[in-house]
Order: sequence, then structure tokens, then C-alpha cells
Amino acid sequence: MNCSTIRSLAPFFSRHGELSDEDRATIEAHLAVCPSCQGWFQREQEFDAAVARVIQQVEVPSDLPNAIWRKIATQSRRAARMKVLRVAAVASAVVLLVALGWKIWTSRPVVDPVQWAAWEDQRYVFTYNGSRESAVEFFARSGVKTFVPYDFDYTLLTRLDVVAVEGTPVACLVFQKGPNRAKVYVLPKRRFRVPRGELAAATGSHCTVEFAESSREFVLVIVYFGEPNRQLFMPPGSIG
Ligand SMILES: [Zn+2]
Repeated sequence: MNCSTIRSLAPFFSRHGELSDEDRATIEAHLAVCPSCQGWFQREQEFDAAVARVIQQVEVPSDLPNAIWRKIATQSRRAARMKVLRVAAVASAVVLLVALGWKIWTSRPVVDPVQWAAWEDQRYVFTYNGSRESAVEFFARSGVKTFVPYDFDYTLLTRLDVVAVEGTPVACLVFQKGPNRAKVYVLPKRRFRVPRGELAAATGSHCTVEFAESSREFVLVIVYFGEPNRQLFMPPGSIG
């Protein structure tokens, strides 16, 4: 055996039963004649002994193995808990969505034909009796604070309505004279900015839109279908 073989076997030399008697004898014979390996071997043994002493001096807590097991158990419990939390979060989000959908679905108002007939009767009475006062009363009952313009011929009124314009409930009156129709929206100035001058009119492919001052608080948007002539819809006595 050469020096490197001897040195590679050295770690097993001090352990009982890991080397054959023959190998052990060979190593001892080599150490006896090789001062280099002898020195090396001694240093190795001294190092091992020193490490062993240090290890023995380290105070090992008596329940260290238990502590390690507890730590592992805690970590796996924590991981399991996180997993449960994640699943629970997803599940509750799903439940919330379903509940919300159900609430929206079931809270749809019931359409009652009796109620509907009552509304239409009322609308008819207020619309076709030819007076501005009945239009005022219609919007008062609808709960809309509005202004009902004076200079329209209310015998031409064909429809009264409350419509949402940009989310604001707005009074709407429709006047019809022959083939010409004027649809009048009453916009509260505190909720809408209204252009003036040339900007206050526009012509579409089927209608003409015109803004008209009506009162201090309200402005009219008049949409004409047919002839865009305000005078067609004015009260008979007022055309000068
Ligand atoms: Zn040697």
C-alpha cells in the first residue's frame, strides 16, 4: 500500500470492526516505517479528539429532539392552516357572489298588471285633460321637483313621464301636432351645465335639439321630430 491508500483508510482505523485484521496490520506496518504518514496520522487523531471534546462541551438541551419534532409539526400545521385559509377565502368569495346574485335576482320588482293599469289610467287622466295644472299635479305625485313650462298648448300633450338623464330624474312632456312632435325635458340647472348661444342647438338625422331658458332654476331641452318650430306647440292666444 502507498501513502495515499493508507491515509484514505485512516478514518476507519480507530473504529472497531470496520477494517480487517490484515488491513489493520498493513497500516501499522506502514506507519512504523513512514514518518510522514505517522505525523499525518497523529495530527488527524488530535483533530478528531479536539472536535469530540468541543462537541461534548456543547450543552445539548435535554428535550432538543422533542423540540425539533415539535417545530416540524408546528410548521406543517401552519402550512396546513394556510392551505385551509386559502380554500376558505376562495369558498367564501364564491358564496358571497352567489348570495349577491341571488339577492339581485329575487329583489327584482314584481310586475303587477293591476298596478300597471292604475298607473296608465292615472297618466291618461293627467295627460289628456288639456290643462297645465294636471301636468303639474302629475309630476308632484311622481315626487319630482320640476317646473312645468307655460308657453305650450296642453291640448296637444300626448305623454307625461319621468325619465333618468345622467342618473337624475327629469320631467318629460311630449306634444304632438299632426306629423310634428316636440319632446320637452325639464333640466334643473343645479344638476346640469347648459351651453348657450350657437352651442345650444343641434340637428340629428331624425330630430333637432334646442335649449330654451324656462325659469331661473330650470332649462328646457326641446327635441323636435318633424318641423323644428316652437310656435307650432304654443297656446293659440300667445302667438303674436
Ligand atoms: Zn506513508
